[in-house]
Amino acid sequence: MSLSLYDTMAREKRPFAPTDPARVTMYVCGPTVYNFAHIGNARPVVVFDLLFRVLRRLYGESAVLYAANVTDVDDKINQRAQAEGVPIDVITDRYLEAYNSDMSVLGALRPTFQPRATQTMAAIIDFIARLVRNNAAYAAEGHVLFNTQAYSDYGKLSGRPMDEMIAGARVDVAPYKQHPADFVLWKPSKPGEPVWDSPWGPGRPGWHIECSAMIEQALGLPIDIHGGGIDLVFPHHENEMAQGMCADHAGEYARFWMHNGFLNFGDEKMSKSLGNVVLVHDLVTKVPGEALRWALLIGHYRQPLEWNGELIEQSRKALDRLYGALRRAADVAPSTTDPSEAFVAALHDDLNSPQAFAELFALASELETGDAAAKARAKGQLLASGALAGFLQADPEAWFQGGADEALKARVEALIAARIQARAAKDWPEADRIRAELTALNIEVMDGPTGATWRVRA
Ligand SMILES: [Zn+2]
Repeated sequence: MSLSLYDTMAREKRPFAPTDPARVTMYVCGPTVYNFAHIGNARPVVVFDLLFRVLRRLYGESAVLYAANVTDVDDKINQRAQAEGVPIDVITDRYLEAYNSDMSVLGALRPTFQPRATQTMAAIIDFIARLVRNNAAYAAEGHVLFNTQAYSDYGKLSGRPMDEMIAGARVDVAPYKQHPADFVLWKPSKPGEPVWDSPWGPGRPGWHIECSAMIEQALGLPIDIHGGGIDLVFPHHENEMAQGMCADHAGEYARFWMHNGFLNFGDEKMSKSLGNVVLVHDLVTKVPGEALRWALLIGHYRQPLEWNGELIEQSRKALDRLYGALRRAADVAPSTTDPSEAFVAALHDDLNSPQAFAELFALASELETGDAAAKARAKGQLLASGALAGFLQADPEAWFQGGADEALKARVEALIAARIQARAAKDWPEADRIRAELTALNIEVMDGPTGATWRVRA
């Protein structure tokens, strides 16, 4: 089963093969760390985490090198640091730590590398110097600009004609630009902003050059896969590619360009609706991370996704159903550790997660209704398929008790133990009284062959 991926540059799905199967490289544009991450920014994290997992399964864990950068030089960071009266690294360290912890709650593995712009400054300056040497960049009034006229394929990735790219450039074209579409590689810092020395005067890098330099430093150019949100195609990725192609890389920058669609927010009427909670840091305190991960993958990654409370609820119920099947099959011993072929085939078809999810439900049905051999196989495949995509690794009991805090859990466990004693002593009124108390706590008790289990009612 070969992997096919949609390549934004080719504008079609094509078979993926890395340059070197022993060293598969992927880079995804990461966050600017000045605040908690918006759920819209978590979509590329989860989508490319799924791809990372698929690649690791295909080529081996240590063969896949995945870099996701952190932009820690930015106007918004400076503003926040000034507002709080602290150095910028206090802001960036705080929000990077929160970002990593929130993304791991969404089941995202840590990338192999997480380069930061402030730690890549020598490589950035070296990259710019090479562009200047190749006549692909020029210095003017303390700035260094990329010379878009030096690169004949400028606009090829986004498919935009030059006049449209010029119209999209800032309305007031700076006088030091040779061409309106030329973009900044280096610029003087404003008072109070962080500043670095360079051959062109003190200043700071532009955003696009950071990524090209971080890719080159962390992974080496060209890379196999470059990913990010669809909004990055122009100008960010167009500019990244132009830089890379003009800096001695034998005519190749990224072999596959992949972009995820937007998250759309309708107007949720009820202010208390979960659909109105947009920071991952807040969402993970209200909804299991696994349900948020499911919600982010419920549609195909290239399509826009309507984000609302109903979607989150639907995702939690989907996982209730799968964990419910696993809980009822607690005594079934899995007979395989391989994911189902249909599940893998769906992911290999340009990460078709909706199709892959449908296969998980098919496996759950087989687990409930099949004969003994079918159940054993279905359980193994369900767990292995889930593991591949970052799902179903919790204890089913723990999943259903995820809505209870520690104090409530302790109280429920004590009541259930008391009820077992009452029933053993044939004290039926007492058993019924305890059951009523549990119901009042919104706890549902299910008596099964292996004893009583419980969950908080939805
Ligand atoms: Zn980038």
